[in-house]
Amino acid sequence: MSNTALSRLRPEISKLHAYAVPDADGFVKLDAMENPYKWPEGMRSLWLDYLGDAQVNRYPEPNPEKLKKKLQSQFGPSSECEILFGNGSDELIQLLVIAIAKPGASIVTVSPSFSMYQMIAEFIGIDCHVVPLTEDYELNVDATIEAINQYDPSLVFLAYPNNPTGNLWDRSDVNKVVQTCQGIVVIDEAYGPFASDSFTEELKNIPNMVLLRTASKIGLAGIRFGWLAGDAELLNELNKLRLPYNINSLTQLTVEFALDNFQMFEEQAKIIQVSRAELFKNLSSMKNVHPYKSEANFILFKLLSMNANDVFKRLLDQKVLIKNVSQQEGLSQCLRVTVGTEEENNQFCKALEQALVS
Ligand SMILES: *Cc1c(COP(=O)(O)O)cnc(C)c1O
Repeated sequence: MSNTALSRLRPEISKLHAYAVPDADGFVKLDAMENPYKWPEGMRSLWLDYLGDAQVNRYPEPNPEKLKKKLQSQFGPSSECEILFGNGSDELIQLLVIAIAKPGASIVTVSPSFSMYQMIAEFIGIDCHVVPLTEDYELNVDATIEAINQYDPSLVFLAYPNNPTGNLWDRSDVNKVVQTCQGIVVIDEAYGPFASDSFTEELKNIPNMVLLRTASKIGLAGIRFGWLAGDAELLNELNKLRLPYNINSLTQLTVEFALDNFQMFEEQAKIIQVSRAELFKNLSSMKNVHPYKSEANFILFKLLSMNANDVFKRLLDQKVLIKNVSQQEGLSQCLRVTVGTEEENNQFCKALEQALVS
């Protein structure tokens, strides 16, 4: 018997697919930009002691001011900006789109970039205009400004560094785009811990610019925590849409603990940056592989003589899981690999060399 309720869902939902996550059991897992390092045993037991204080019978702290202060002193901005927490930064992307969702409102972003901007716009039913990047994945400034003038978007998403290309765009290009826009400009710095530049200090000068960050890529993907920084007046409005208690008690305590022990995360990020350079060198030395310079914890590379689907499959056969992005517009024959431990990177390089000859 068919479920009569199905016909009450929005018809566009039937065409969507749930976010697919491949089973990584038994694989060298280099597909999701996770930090590969575990914590030293001593740190783990300190953390568990810390979590022991959690009062899980109570609701979490609704508006954790102490945590905001700690986060702000670690990451800035130093000015009187407000901060909003999300259950992962994906939740904040969703909150931003909900906030602007009125008839006729639109979004502008670029391609190739982070897929969630377009996906969430589609879920909520907001038009998203996508401007292609240049061939070497720089911002196409003129086309982006033209789109902003044409559509007057309420939201612009720019990932800095960009995912999946890994590059930081020319800063003055970003500034030109920001200056054109009347709506909210989101600078998504998910890969900030691995990058040489940030827009944090611009926040106080540009009230319609907000900065999105996440704890996921630096080593806390499992706790789902992201934050948005920006003009207090704007963020206080956005805060009205945030679901109460969206950051659970265990996440709050873990972020506090992580900030008190932030040196470990910084050291790991440094190791990842060093490994990234090594991995880039190894990929560059392979015949018919073109890696792109990265300011993030992953590297995009293009196969110059072989089909990306075939190479991806041959890596899977050797129990190495990376991300096949070759079906996305502008990423023909491209694959993306997360920087792992030295051992994982070597396993990946060996498997790739094997895949390229077989
Ligand atoms: C991974 C990623 C995010 C999402 O991070 P979560 O906080 O884990 O939801 C946001 N933006 C970009 C560009 C990303 O690559």
